[in-house]
This record gives sequence, structure tokens and C-alpha cells, in this order.
Amino acid sequence: MNKVIFMRGKLVVVSGPSGSGKSTVTKLVKDRLNIPLSISATTRNPRDGEIDGKDYYFLTKEKFQKKIKNDEFYEFANVHGNYYGTLKKTVEENLEKGLNVILEIDVQGALIVKEKKKDAVLVFFKTENLEVLENRLRNRKTDSEEVIELRLKNAKKELEYEKKYDYVIVNKNIEESCNELINIINL
Ligand code: 5GP
Repeated sequence: MNKVIFMRGKLVVVSGPSGSGKSTVTKLVKDRLNIPLSISATTRNPRDGEIDGKDYYFLTKEKFQKKIKNDEFYEFANVHGNYYGTLKKTVEENLEKGLNVILEIDVQGALIVKEKKKDAVLVFFKTENLEVLENRLRNRKTDSEEVIELRLKNAKKELEYEKKYDYVIVNKNIEESCNELINIINL
């Protein structure tokens, strides 16, 4: 009799300081590999052009806390003064269907995921140095000076977590970084 093997998808977690280019690369890789979008919930305000239910589920603090109480999150963390969280259903339903899942989340969330699921693959994105990071944050013109300062301060702390990750991608070139991430997913 034939043996039926159920393949579960791979859970890949991408983190790195704001401005490291991780979102751009992750979006491109998801498109190329047909990986479904995983939409996080957040209490931060939408930026210009961001759409509720597409970029994030934008929630009030009260609604977010209710979801915490109802145990709806796979992981959540306070990042740059706001809550961000991955909903359980986003992860579990897709993995069970055999689909790969990429979560683009902060370092605290990544470590929670690794604790829950030992075979999750953690990928850290960074720039060559902090100067490049600062230039990118300023050039994208999405955040106020205060937010940029906070994100730079947090970047220094985030970089200390690099050694806890399975892979590090130094994002100098988007195309090369996409290929590196695709190789890691396909390993
Ligand atoms: P941004 O405000 O720039 O969209 O995201 C700020 C930070 O929050 C980024 O480092 C991003 O990876 C992280 N983040 C986004 N979604 C989640 C999530 O669901 N959980 C956690 N822990 N971090 C998240």
C-alpha cells in the first residue's frame, strides 16, 4: 500500500532594523514564490497609503488587548511604543495546508516563535553599517524626526540579537538578497 506523507509548510521569520530593506525583499520573495501574505495586527497609526486589512489590521489598543486576552496571537510584542502581533490563524492554517509562511516581525517576536516552533528558520536583515541605515530611514520620508531617532536607537539594540538567528543577510542589493532568501526557504 502506498504511504501518504503529509508535508507541512516551512515557517520563516524575517527580522532586522527598520530601514534594513527587509520588507521590500520579503514582499518580492512572497510574490515570486506565491507565498500568501501574513497580515499582522498593530496599534500604530496607518501611514499614508496604508490600507487596513492589507498592510496591517489597524486596531485600537483596547481591541488589541482583547485579542491578547482571547489568546488569538501566535506572538506579539511592543515595538517602538506600539503593539504588533501575528494572529494564530495566519500561521497555523497555512502550515497545515502545506504552505510556507514568512513572518516579518521584530526580534522579540522572532524569539517567541523559535521557542514555540524549534524548526522555524530565523533570518536577520541588516545594512553594511548604521550610516546606510540612517540614510535609508531619512530618504523614505515616512516618519517624523522623533520616530527616526527612536528607530535608530532601537536598531542598535536589535543588532545585538543577530547571533540568535540562523542566517544573516547583509542587504546591499535587493536582487541578491531576494535570491539569498529564496535559497534559504528552499533548503
Ligand atoms: P513598521 O511600523 O515599520 O511597519 O514595523 C515596525 C516593526 O514591527 C518592524 O520591525 C516589523 O518587523 C515589526 N512587526 C510587524 N509586524 C509584527 C508582528 O506581527 N509581530 C512583531 N513582533 N513585530 C512585528
